[in-house]
Amino acid sequence: MSTFQAPKGTYDLLPPNSATYLAVREAISAPLKNSGYGYVETPGFEAVELFARGVGESTDIVTKEMYAFETKGGDKLALRPEGTASVLRAALEANLHKAGNLPVKLWYSGSYYRYERPQKGRYRHFSQVGAEAIGAEDPALDAELIILADQAYRSLGLRNFRILLNSLGDKECRPVYRAALQEFLRGLDLDEETLRRAEINPLRVLDDKRADVQKQLTGAPSMPDYLCDACTAYHKEVRELLDAAGVVYEDDAKLVRGLDYYTRTTFEFVHDGLGSQSAVGGGGRYDGLSEMIGGPSLPSVGWALGVDRTVLALEAEGVDLELPATTSVFAVPLGEEARRVLFGKVTELRKAGIATDFSYGGKGLKGAMKNANRSGARFTLVAGERDLADGVVQLKDMESGEQGPVALDAVLETLKAKLG
Ligand code: ATP
Ligand code: MG
Repeated sequence: MSTFQAPKGTYDLLPPNSATYLAVREAISAPLKNSGYGYVETPGFEAVELFARGVGESTDIVTKEMYAFETKGGDKLALRPEGTASVLRAALEANLHKAGNLPVKLWYSGSYYRYERPQKGRYRHFSQVGAEAIGAEDPALDAELIILADQAYRSLGLRNFRILLNSLGDKECRPVYRAALQEFLRGLDLDEETLRRAEINPLRVLDDKRADVQKQLTGAPSMPDYLCDACTAYHKEVRELLDAAGVVYEDDAKLVRGLDYYTRTTFEFVHDGLGSQSAVGGGGRYDGLSEMIGGPSLPSVGWALGVDRTVLALEAEGVDLELPATTSVFAVPLGEEARRVLFGKVTELRKAGIATDFSYGGKGLKGAMKNANRSGARFTLVAGERDLADGVVQLKDMESGEQGPVALDAVLETLKAKLG
């Protein structure tokens, strides 16, 4: 223990569990890398105004959850609470959309910060892998992203997740729906804050998690009934492409992203083993966002998957990822001369790509073999003075227990052959 602890709502990733996080990030990004998405990395903080506009003044994220601060130079910044606004800002700033190659397809992976009430699956520092396809309106792009997320979760061995799908309409049909919903909400028995929300952002009321609110919402006007012909056709094609790909989804007319620039396709990945923090990822089309942050019209679609909750989902399903052994060979020198010789061998093996570790700190055989066991290495190399005099090291197979001498200059070839 030191005097300090990780700040409230945060936790450290440490071996061996941290390997699972790396594997999850890798599994989520692999299908993206395989589908034309390029890696983007943006700063951990941005102008607070970017999020105010790019996430929405009336959202919980902006009103309650943002780590905003003023720098010594007087800049108003915020730790990033999500990825989309930053990625779009970066793409616009670099004029990626002008290179004549739309859509611009980008993926990212990183830390995000929200001042939330910490609980299982809800942290103040968490990590996401996300993807954005910027500058094209094509149902195949919406379908592609959903298919890739589905593929990512399946490659991890997850089975008990569901995909919820909806369309939020566009600037033609959505305002009509918005007005109808608002009219309906005004007639309900809602608390003051919710009534205020109904005026600013009525769709978000549909997302209210409280049972008494949900009960009153039965009979609320339903978005699918209000979709214009173009949105209906678009949504139909997204669904047909998902069907053709064998991706199973559920229609959820109440699924919203409560902001005006979120349009058409909206989806969420939920996992049933996570209790109330059931959303493992979400996304959708945001055709109006670019203009909201001062860019040209660039219809876009994207998603973000939460790494922390994905790891919890793996635990809930009892999935053990097959992680590659971190160390294949562990070298144990007995004595000064052996230390020098074996350390040279270790470097040689590492250069050849064999994951190798070494017993440091001048331990005796017993302590060193304990370390070797703990490392999970398949083989150990032990050498003492007599071995060196004979020009050999003792190679032990930790699985079978077999042990025998190997000539020093044959160690690399022997291990290569044995490790395949
Ligand atoms: P929720 O409804 O649970 O608050 P959200 O709508 O705020 O989720 P998004 O902004 O869509 O979540 O973020 C995408 C994903 O990032 C979520 O599905 C979740 O997996 C993860 N995520 C969001 N907030 C947190 C958090 N505070 N702690 C851990 N993971 C989070
Ligand atoms: Mg949230």
